[in-house]
Amino acid sequence: AQVWKLKTDFDGIPKEEDFELVEEDLLSLKDNEILVQAVYLSLNPYFRVVASVQKDLPGEQVAKIIESKATDFPVGSLVCVHAGWRSHTVVDVTLARGSGNSVELIQEVPELSLSLWLGAAGMPGVTAYLSFLEKCDPKSGEVIVVTAASGAVGATVGQLAKNLGLTVIGIAGSKDKCEYIKSLGFDYAINYKEDNMSDALDKAAPNGVDIYYDNVGGTIADTVYGKLRDHGRVLICGLISNYNTSEEKGKNWSKDILFKKLKIQGFIVYDPANLAKFSTTRNELISLLLQGKVKAKEHVTEGFTKMPAAFIELFTGANFGKAIVKA
Ligand code: NDP
Repeated sequence: AQVWKLKTDFDGIPKEEDFELVEEDLLSLKDNEILVQAVYLSLNPYFRVVASVQKDLPGEQVAKIIESKATDFPVGSLVCVHAGWRSHTVVDVTLARGSGNSVELIQEVPELSLSLWLGAAGMPGVTAYLSFLEKCDPKSGEVIVVTAASGAVGATVGQLAKNLGLTVIGIAGSKDKCEYIKSLGFDYAINYKEDNMSDALDKAAPNGVDIYYDNVGGTIADTVYGKLRDHGRVLICGLISNYNTSEEKGKNWSKDILFKKLKIQGFIVYDPANLAKFSTTRNELISLLLQGKVKAKEHVTEGFTKMPAAFIELFTGANFGKAIVKA
């Protein structure tokens, strides 16, 4: 197997020199084990925070079974598996979802690309669905702001919000990304690299913001917090602007929280309560994708050897859509 490892712990934005590709011998299969070959690999911003030289690089794959000693997992079937940055992996099929190399058989849907099992019909989609619908208490007519809005999580949240009749303001880092989210039905798109965000938010939401879905933290979050209305809700899903620095960016909003009676929540998709809903939520998302009620854009990089380069793009904004590597 080819396996990507970290040569050195990250310091600032990840660099290609931080990674090395090594060859690893695989043990022969025991009962209840399968050998899988990666077809699509997922790249997620959170790897930056959890990866270390001590551990294997994490992440889900869509993979093909090429040897099997497990009933119900025949050779040739496709699985979604937490196998990390590896070309081939021996997996124990009895492991539960979220733990180590957990594995789930894929029921293929001819109309949908298998890579979606890592994106809009996978971890980021499930994150968007559960965190927005179950935690943000959205109501028709309310105003939501979503950051990293063209990305895997943000674009899904924005579309779910539109489907419920909210006014949706997306914040993204380029003209193309802004045009894209408008094409998805977002009411307003703000380019945080060019626009005056505070003025643009005042224009789009003259009466303030009800829900802030935060994927980035930092100074962008600061500007949006200042626009929240009484009883506003904040869902902190990610803090990508802080992942590459040890300095905590962001103001202290205690006074606003108190006087505007804000509700601020964090969300982690890998919490057991969310994992228990993973499969049913995935099915909901597949149905929304098939009906065209959620659309998904993918940023596919060809070649397992490009994993580090494709990962680094997440932190420069060079990815446009869910970051996937096709092995
Ligand atoms: P995306 O597909 O949105 O890719 C990351 C995007 O973040 C980039 O394209 C870039 O877009 C934006 N970005 C990068 N650096 C910065 C920065 N310094 N300031 C502002 N924006 C930046 O990724 P995902 O949809 O997979 O993830 C989005 C967020 O959700 C991440 O923070 C991630 O960690 C989090 N997440 C959390 C989960 C949970 O369970 N809590 C689960 C899954 C994801 P742009 O060009 O617009 O700047």
